[in-house]
Amino acid sequence: MELDFINHGPASYDAFENQFSNLTEKVFNHLGIKENYIVDVIIVDNKSIQEINRDYRKNDKPTDVISFAFFDDENETISSDIPLSLGQIVISYEKAEEQAKEFGHSVNREMSFLFVHGMLHLLGYDHMKKNDEIVMFQLQDEILGGHKMEKNELVTKAIEARELSYSPYSKFKVGAAVLTTDGKVFLGANIENSAYPLCMCAERNALYNAYMHGVKKGDIAALALAADTEGPCAPCGACRQVMSELMPKSAPIFMANLKGLVQETSIDELLPFAFSEDDLK
Ligand SMILES: [Zn+2]
Repeated sequence: MELDFINHGPASYDAFENQFSNLTEKVFNHLGIKENYIVDVIIVDNKSIQEINRDYRKNDKPTDVISFAFFDDENETISSDIPLSLGQIVISYEKAEEQAKEFGHSVNREMSFLFVHGMLHLLGYDHMKKNDEIVMFQLQDEILGGHKMEKNELVTKAIEARELSYSPYSKFKVGAAVLTTDGKVFLGANIENSAYPLCMCAERNALYNAYMHGVKKGDIAALALAADTEGPCAPCGACRQVMSELMPKSAPIFMANLKGLVQETSIDELLPFAFSEDDLK
């Protein structure tokens, strides 16, 4: 598998070459494709994709992704040593940025989604009919969901994060771990101060850590926290308020202790009637 990557967008989008390469490998592995293909991917702006959309699809509007399949003869025998061109994927980075904002997740997530979507089109998947759409979207979820982390694995990360705690006053170490939909984990631990009110909790540090790495609300899949407590370690009121704003309501929260106790809860359960931006209107 080879990826031919051209970036006409901002220089920061060069980083997607690596990411798309990894995603291509994931798609091929997932579908059990052994043939050696070349995939062309080109990142453009809204103006360019609008021209392509108008010329090839009679649709004079910018769109997010367009795929051109070059090779669609299923009966042709393929020699594995000469890579065949599978086709070209054109992605508008401006559209990706707009949609990331709209869906409340990172540009990274949106670009990955658009690439995998375009790739599946090249491989013959479609979403014109409902049944085909179910198959294609399920595949996208499986590929982009990546390594679905087990609840216990995330709790283990939270327990490990306790080692980063700075808690000379309370000696109460708390660890937290935020899991993103693409399988990344961001850690946090409680950091104390001799001026006591300045102490910061593990859960907020983990969430802020994730956000500092470009994670957005819609990217968060779960949060775990752990401490050496009798029952499952519960987040404080301040952290509940922050969680209610920075995490999607659907993301589970795992409260754990060191003895293997894990209780799953949710924002709604932890903080009904949370203060939100709606209250400021
Ligand atoms: Zn807290």
